[in-house]
Amino acid sequence: AKDAGRNNYQFYAQDMNARAMDRLTLESGLRRALERKEFILYYQPKVNLVSGEIEGMEALLRWQPPGQKMVSPLDFIPIAEETGLIVPIGEWVLRTACAQYAAWKNAGVNVCRIAVNLSARQFMQQNLVEVVSRVLHETECDAAGLELEITESIIMENPDAAVETLRTLSNMGIKLAIDDFGTGYSSLSYLKRFPIGYLKIDQSFVRDITTDADDAAIATAVIALAHSMKLQVIAEGVETAEQLQFLRDHNCDQMQGYFFSPPLPAEQVVKLLKEGRGL
Ligand code: C2E
Ligand code: CA
Ligand code: CA
Ligand code: CA
Repeated sequence: AKDAGRNNYQFYAQDMNARAMDRLTLESGLRRALERKEFILYYQPKVNLVSGEIEGMEALLRWQPPGQKMVSPLDFIPIAEETGLIVPIGEWVLRTACAQYAAWKNAGVNVCRIAVNLSARQFMQQNLVEVVSRVLHETECDAAGLELEITESIIMENPDAAVETLRTLSNMGIKLAIDDFGTGYSSLSYLKRFPIGYLKIDQSFVRDITTDADDAAIATAVIALAHSMKLQVIAEGVETAEQLQFLRDHNCDQMQGYFFSPPLPAEQVVKLLKEGRGL
């Protein structure tokens, strides 16, 4: 038993070591990724569940270090957040997404709106509003074309500061959405204070929506309460016709997910829109 214990320890120590190495490699790689232009944005359509039409595109970040596999944002955003690198990276995302939106619009490609994810660290920057205004101006993107997605935990961390920032952004004409709704701590009545237009039901509730009574109840309640507060609801991670039907039956407003389309590179978005495909 003693031996086994020691082996376990060694295995564990080795594992930790490997992970620490990965982290360092990841961190130094991330530090250079912006100047080396290794980031790309993919875009995933948001589709209206009643009209079947595309009503927006969410920009999702990808990292492609040369000669390596594409790195998922789930693997590098936490490190970018800890090191503060998320601030310049996030500004790059905002600028690139707004510039893409303006370019599509100039080319007669109508994507309605572009949605950008904001991290906690970014949201807490004193000059966030200034950065957003400057980027909109420089990219000639209209504020009404921009939607910002933030998580409820970002808001709940400092509600008084958040409400002020959100009001300023909303007054500029920017749409605001609460991402991953239901996974953090918040209450719908509290959200009433915030100028939010959309709630996104997290994909962890959508996954088993047709088989798990709890998940179905949560989704149904979120939709009903959101509507009573004049908010629209988007379901994320919709993969099957059954999930789609459930959401339609329960008056969810929009969907996103592989069932309609995975996140796509910009060229493929244009193709999709030219085909005029709807739900
Ligand atoms: P999120 O904002 O909740 O984005 C939804 C994630 O679900 C995306 O993963 C998307 O590709 C994936 N997804 C879409 N449809 C489906 C589906 O039908 N089934 C399943 N299983 N997954 C689906 P992705 O692109 O890997 O991004 C993961 C997370 O990384 C995002 O979650 C977001 O929190 C973060 N992220 C991505 N881009 C950015 C960014 O530019 N800035 C910040 N701060 N965070 C970002
Ligand atoms: Ca999101
Ligand atoms: Ca999510
Ligand atoms: Ca359950």
